[in-house]
Amino acid sequence: MNYNIALLKGDGIGPEIVESAVRVLEAVGAKFGHTFHFTPYLIGGSAIDATGAPLPEETVKGCLAADSVLLGAVGGPKWDTLPGNLRPEKALLGIRAAMGLFTNLRPAKLYPALKGDCPLRADIVENGFDVMIVRELTGGIYFGDRGYREGKYGEEAFDTESYSRMEIERICRVAFETARKRRKKLTSIDKANVLETSRLWRKIVHEMAAEYPDVELSDMLVDNAAMQLVRNPAQFDVIVTSNMFGDILSDEASQITGSIGMLPSASLNEGTRGLYEPIHGSAPDIAGQGKANPIATVLSAAMMLLYSFNLVEESQAIVSAVDRVLEQGFRTADLSHGAPALTTIQMTDKIIENL
Ligand code: NAD
Repeated sequence: MNYNIALLKGDGIGPEIVESAVRVLEAVGAKFGHTFHFTPYLIGGSAIDATGAPLPEETVKGCLAADSVLLGAVGGPKWDTLPGNLRPEKALLGIRAAMGLFTNLRPAKLYPALKGDCPLRADIVENGFDVMIVRELTGGIYFGDRGYREGKYGEEAFDTESYSRMEIERICRVAFETARKRRKKLTSIDKANVLETSRLWRKIVHEMAAEYPDVELSDMLVDNAAMQLVRNPAQFDVIVTSNMFGDILSDEASQITGSIGMLPSASLNEGTRGLYEPIHGSAPDIAGQGKANPIATVLSAAMMLLYSFNLVEESQAIVSAVDRVLEQGFRTADLSHGAPALTTIQMTDKIIENL
């Protein structure tokens, strides 16, 4: 098969880690008989430097025409003083909106070989954990009415959370389907003791549960979920939640793996087109030094194979290769604790050798 992939390398370590993922995809293509065509487009600070805008029209067009999109990261101190609408990060919201990406999938997995990097107590993570957070990405309070006004006690500001049945149903459907492909356990996280949007969310997710009798559904309040993630993360399989709760909980979940350079993400729309990116930023402090861990981006490419192209075996081949490299003891500097470390290119070579 032939697949067209738009590459958004971005800034900082972005070009280095995207190059690694491209090499791994090419190796997978050679092994399984697929051809991946890559077309680079500008985004973020590098786009500002070249065109004056963080998300040029040509980039949006290119992403909409491609089968899928692989993004490195954007941003850096050089652009930090620009006004909000010209900041590199503005491009991320822009491309998500343009592609209609309403689902964000963020796995947080503790690799047995990296248990020592987990900030939680050894007895809590004895058996590891593997959580998939399904976050609603285009609704809720981040997109609701907002403003400033003069109130009884002076200046006031407000933001509004609203969710429609359609928005809740489509994200919960992704979550049920995802749980079905995993350990068949879904936890819906809300604040139904306080928020009306959460009560509608809870009602709808339970209506939908009838269609998924094989998936065990439970509810959890968000404050409890924040505690449970550090108390016993292994209890979770798939979590589904709103935009803001997902934003916060997915960062918490990623931190307890102890390895920011390892975690991929996928943002999906109604169809098969998605945007795949590591959860970390552009790491300007190590850019251009060959120190970046490419694994988060390589695993993002594996998610692309699974979710956009339905190449299950090919995706698993990448995941297994990464597992093996870690078991063999190879580490980039972020995980080597001062011991000799592999460069970005050497780590990529090891992954390809293990495919
Ligand atoms: P960061 O994730 O870039 O870096 C945090 C720390 O983790 C740094 O010490 C960095 O060296 C390290 N790190 C990150 N990724 C790594 C990797 N693959 N290998 C090894 N070490 C890695 O977060 P930050 O420093 O807060 O932000 C830097 C820039 O990135 C900012 O401009 C920020 O706005 C931007 N940012 C972009 C995205 C994105 O593009 N999606 C996300 C977060 C931050």
